[in-house]
Parts: sequence; C-alpha cells; structure tokens
Amino acid sequence: MQKTTHTLQDTAFNALLIHYKTASLRTSGLWLLFANLCFTLFLFGRHHFQLLLDPVSKVAIPATIFDKLSLIIIVFFIIALSLVRYIRGMLPAMALAFVTGLYWAVVFHVMVSNDTQQQLVFPLFCMLIFTALIALYPSTPILYSFTAPLWLSLFVHLVFLRTTIPILEVAAMIIASGLFESGRIMLNRWFVLSVRRECDNALLVSKLDDLAHNDPLTGVANRRQLDSQLEQLIAQTELQGGTLSLIMIDVDFFKKYNDHYGHQAGDSCLISIADCFKHVVRQPTDLVARYGGEEFVVLLPNAGTQDAEVVASRIKQSVEKAAIPHALSQVSQTVTVSQGIMQWAPGMTSLELLKRADSALYQAKHAGRNGYCVGE
Ligand code: GH3
Ligand code: MG
Ligand code: MG
Repeated sequence: MQKTTHTLQDTAFNALLIHYKTASLRTSGLWLLFANLCFTLFLFGRHHFQLLLDPVSKVAIPATIFDKLSLIIIVFFIIALSLVRYIRGMLPAMALAFVTGLYWAVVFHVMVSNDTQQQLVFPLFCMLIFTALIALYPSTPILYSFTAPLWLSLFVHLVFLRTTIPILEVAAMIIASGLFESGRIMLNRWFVLSVRRECDNALLVSKLDDLAHNDPLTGVANRRQLDSQLEQLIAQTELQGGTLSLIMIDVDFFKKYNDHYGHQAGDSCLISIADCFKHVVRQPTDLVARYGGEEFVVLLPNAGTQDAEVVASRIKQSVEKAAIPHALSQVSQTVTVSQGIMQWAPGMTSLELLKRADSALYQAKHAGRNGYCVGE
C-alpha cells in the first residue's frame, strides 16, 4: 500500500517536473534567443556605431563577413523566436540550441582570426554561456547542445591553432567553465527541490480537501459536502428552473447486524453498501453522501420523481445483488435498505426537503422495509 502511494507520488512528481521544465524552457528560451539577437546586433553595429560616436577615429573596427550576412542571421533569430512556442519534444529544442551555438562558434572563429576583435571573444564567451545557464539550466541536454560548440571552438583555437598555448587564457576558460558547471548543478537542485515542494503541497491540499469533503469510512461525500451541494443545487434550480430530487436511504435492522456480526463487520457492510450506491448513479452530476450513521442521501439534479424511482429500484437491486448475509433481518436473508424519495418544489428549503424525504423513508420502514416510498 505504502509502495503504491510512493509510486503514485513519484509519477505525480515526474509529471509536474516535466510540466515546469517545459513551461520554464519555453519562456526562458525566448529570452535567450532575444539576448542572442541583441549580442548579434551589437557585433554588427560596432563597425557603424564607432564611426558615428567617434567620427575622427582612425582605427575603425573592420566589418566582418557577418556584417554581410546580417540580414540572414537576424531573420534566422526572428524565425527562431516565433517558433519557440511550437517546439515539442527534446530533439527539436536541442537542434535549435545546437544551431545557435554553432553560429557563435563560427563567429568566435572569425573574431579570433581578426587581431582587432580578439579581446572581445572571452567576455562574449562568458556572457553567452552564463545567459544560456540562466535560461536553460532546467535541461542539461539542451544547455549543452548550445554551449558545446562554443567550448569546442574556443578550445580548438587556444590549444591547436596557436603556436604556443596561452596558459592564462586557458586558465580563465577553465575557471569560467568550472563556475558554469557548479552553477548549473546548484540551480538544477533548487529547481528540482522547488518542484518537489510544489508537488508535496499539492498532494497535501488534495488530502485535506478529501478529508474536508469525503466520509473517511465509505469514501462518499460527507455531510458538509452534502449540505453545501444541496444549497447550491436548490439555488440553481430556483434560478434556472428544472427538477431536483433526493433519496434518503437507511439500512434495515443495522443495529441487529452490528450486534450479531460485530462493529467491524458493520463498517465493511457500510463500505459495500456505499459502493452499490456509487455504481448506480450518473457520474459526476449525481451525489452520494453519508448523512450520518447507516443513513445515506443520493442527490439527483435534473431528475423528477419518476427518474428518482428508477434510481431507487436500481439501488434496491444492487444491494440485493451484493447479497451481504444478515441472519437477524426480518425481511430478507441478506442486507436490505429502505428509501424515501422527495422531489424539490419551488420555495422549499434544504431542511424541508430532507425532512420530507425522511418522512417518506419512515413510511417505507412502516410498509415493511426493503422498498421505497415517494413523499409529498
Ligand atoms: P431500522 O431497520 O429501523 O433502520 O433499524 P436499525 O437497527 O437499522 O436502526 P437503528 O437506528 O436502531 O440502528 C442504527 C445502527 O447503526 C446503530 C449504530 O450502532 C449503527 N451505526 C451507526 N453508524 C455506524 C458505523 O459507522 N459503523 C457501524 N458498524 N455501525 C454504525
Ligand atoms: Mg437509521
Ligand atoms: Mg437502519
């Protein structure tokens, strides 16, 4: 039993984790693409801005091949931005992240090959990996799809394409990567922990809700829920018209059942009887509630007396079919129930309706039990 509860909790947690990961990645993915577009516009604009801000500058930043491709790249980011909301599943998201990362790897390569732009590569690398970390930390595969090409491009350049390995630059890259990875682990843990808390709270709320509205023995609605539902239905029927009926049910000779079979067997009998009621009503509009002790109420919205009589005879048959032995019953060899039916009439309060159904039940008892009477 405990194992089943744990499995259910794990399933709920995993479903919630996936939900929050998707929701978070969808929002932050947009932000990341927008940040990438801004970095790109900055790189393209530098060449022109410097001439604007400092017209006498002798060392204008040279235009790169990317300035020529600017329109294509900007169009790519705008299309990617509008596509993020339609992305379903891991692979397309990883593919988009990888293509964007690849674009930056090529940008790095071009910048590193140009003497005047080299000093900007490392700050840009850091900005890119840390903005990606903020946006994509809930999903390690998507985050790495974006950052792997950046690392690879810089690593290849520092280690293989230089005549001597620049120790300081390699050390800075290792430090940045270490910070990145430890930050990723920390943020991910917080994310999982907050989803776990959310899941625990949701389960707690549902348990409390269950306790507040359901009868702990039989699982059907409790008196509190019956009262509030009845008030609501009366108000609704009064306003919109229509019909509303109620059946009050009482187990016959239940005191004798308890005396003969014991209180625990009595409890099991009530559970089985309540199951019978649950299975004969329309779900979810009809309501089965435990009124108190061995008395139950079935609320039937949009049902007149005739419909309620059909339900009452189904209840009688279902209880008979359950065939719970009752050695001391004076009407049958198995447990039976008596029922009182009452249809709501305009102006009738919930208390009156219950009272009249109870009178009809009293009549059914007097008529010999194991049957139903319709109240007036
Ligand atoms: P009648 O046919 O006239 O309804 O007779 P009865 O014996 O069913 O009615 P009575 O009201 O005298 O007895 C009801 C019994 O239901 C008494 C009480 O001990 C028992 N009962 C009430 N609540 C529970 C419960 O939660 N569990 C069990 N096992 N018995 C209960
Ligand atoms: Mg009773
Ligand atoms: Mg009884």
